[in-house]
Amino acid sequence: MDVDHARNLEKLLGDPSRVIRQKEAVEQLSRDFYWYSPVLRKQLDGKAADFVVQPVSAIEIREILRYCYAQNLPVTVRGAGTGNYGQAVPLHGGVVLHLRRMERIEEILAEGVAVCEPGVRLGVLETAAQKVGWELRCYPSTIAKASLGGFLGGGSGGIGSVANGNLRDFNTVRALEVVTMEAEPRIVKHQGQAVHEILHAWGTNGVITRIWLALAPAVEWRQCAIAFDTFDAAFDFSERIAVDTKWAKRLVTAFEWPISSFFGPIKSFAPDGKALIFILIASAQAAKLEASACEAGGVVSFSGAYQGLRTRPLLSDYTWNHTTLWAMNTDEAYTYLQCGFDPRRAREQLRLLRERFGKEILFHMEFMKNGDGQIIPGAIPLVYYTTEARLNEMIDCCREIGVYVANPHVNNVEGGGRYRADNVQLIAKRRYDPKGLMNPGKMITFRPETAKTGVAVP
Ligand SMILES: Cc1cc2nc3c(=O)[nH]c(=O)nc-3n(C[C@H](O)[C@H](O)[C@H](O)COP(=O)(O)OP(=O)(O)OC[C@H]3O[C@@H](n4cnc5c(N)ncnc54)[C@H](O)[C@@H]3O)c2cc1C
Repeated sequence: MDVDHARNLEKLLGDPSRVIRQKEAVEQLSRDFYWYSPVLRKQLDGKAADFVVQPVSAIEIREILRYCYAQNLPVTVRGAGTGNYGQAVPLHGGVVLHLRRMERIEEILAEGVAVCEPGVRLGVLETAAQKVGWELRCYPSTIAKASLGGFLGGGSGGIGSVANGNLRDFNTVRALEVVTMEAEPRIVKHQGQAVHEILHAWGTNGVITRIWLALAPAVEWRQCAIAFDTFDAAFDFSERIAVDTKWAKRLVTAFEWPISSFFGPIKSFAPDGKALIFILIASAQAAKLEASACEAGGVVSFSGAYQGLRTRPLLSDYTWNHTTLWAMNTDEAYTYLQCGFDPRRAREQLRLLRERFGKEILFHMEFMKNGDGQIIPGAIPLVYYTTEARLNEMIDCCREIGVYVANPHVNNVEGGGRYRADNVQLIAKRRYDPKGLMNPGKMITFRPETAKTGVAVP
């Protein structure tokens, strides 16, 4: 770089400690968990920003973006960097805008809506909400580290989704403010349906600086693990609990053997050869649920109080995409897919995949509610990776038999499976980032208005 942009931004902020230039620190803040995917590992290893800036307010972000727009500097927003698709990895250098210092919970409104800055960690928000009788509607298994802004920018759902749907359903994100990347950056409020223009856009169309997030009334939960002789029996029981509205639950997960053998610290809950279910159930219903599991042939291998995120063991630490991490720790050949089975045909679809791929695919189900209120057997199956061609064969096969796949092995918004068919994220990008400087290369259907961005967008 001929111009010392880092120095100029230090002057702009009046605080050199918030501009990070040390190579190792910059490299670390340019990475996320993309290495979950052997395909992305090849594409993204070694990609890094030129330097990192840590703003403290939306006003400051506006000043930074004004400078970057004038200088044609790419900007990649970062929350906690726990995404697993290289969402926060800058492809074209420039600035990483790290929002960890913008972590204020402004207030929790009496109607159960939290008003927050984007850098707040989800775990901190959950704990604060519980103190006043509320809890998160849904959260990723990375709750302890992940930021709210990053969840909106790149996440989808998780624990709680079986009852409350995913993040983008049921008006959970009531409103947000976003700073635009224009000659004169604006702070624009989106509410109602307009939040979808920004959600899951991977920070390609603005920086979310303020969020109004709807919460759920807090419930006293209990966690239990139940072992079944076969995966079929485990699937039947977990589906029954997931779909029946009389059960108040926050998590319904089913693993086929040997997945639970990867869970080192809680291996004792996983009898050899058995399928395992984890359920987070309202305390008041726990005894009844456990009796019902026994009637269905299950054996309760663990039952314990849930007292917030410090509870040990915390069963949710083994669910959603944490399951993949435990598998990779055991054998690094494991990777994963993200699937939605058809509730009417799930058993047949599971059988077809088993017949074609044997134990190359291991079934890990996460039941969730979709936006229409229907319970879907979602899944994050483990895949024993051999080649990219074989992985793609599995993805193609899933799609041929009607299993939805949100492909976690691609590094663009459109390919990842949560891009909206009505193109609202792209339309917002044209409006808010006409030069294509926000996380360039990640929204591949976008073409910059002028060719003078200095950024080679593929
Ligand atoms: C072990 C493991 C388990 C996981 N489990 C789940 C799960 O259960 N459910 C789930 O949905 N995800 C899951 N994830 C993915 C990830 O942890 C979550 O999506 C998390 O919410 C991301 O938050 P973050 O702060 O780390 O975001 P980052 O990784 O920092 O950012 C994610 C994306 O959002 C953009 N972004 C960040 N902040 C902003 C902002 N303020 N404005 C605009 N764009 C922004 C970034 O540019 C990036 O594109 C998992 C990941 C791992 C490694």
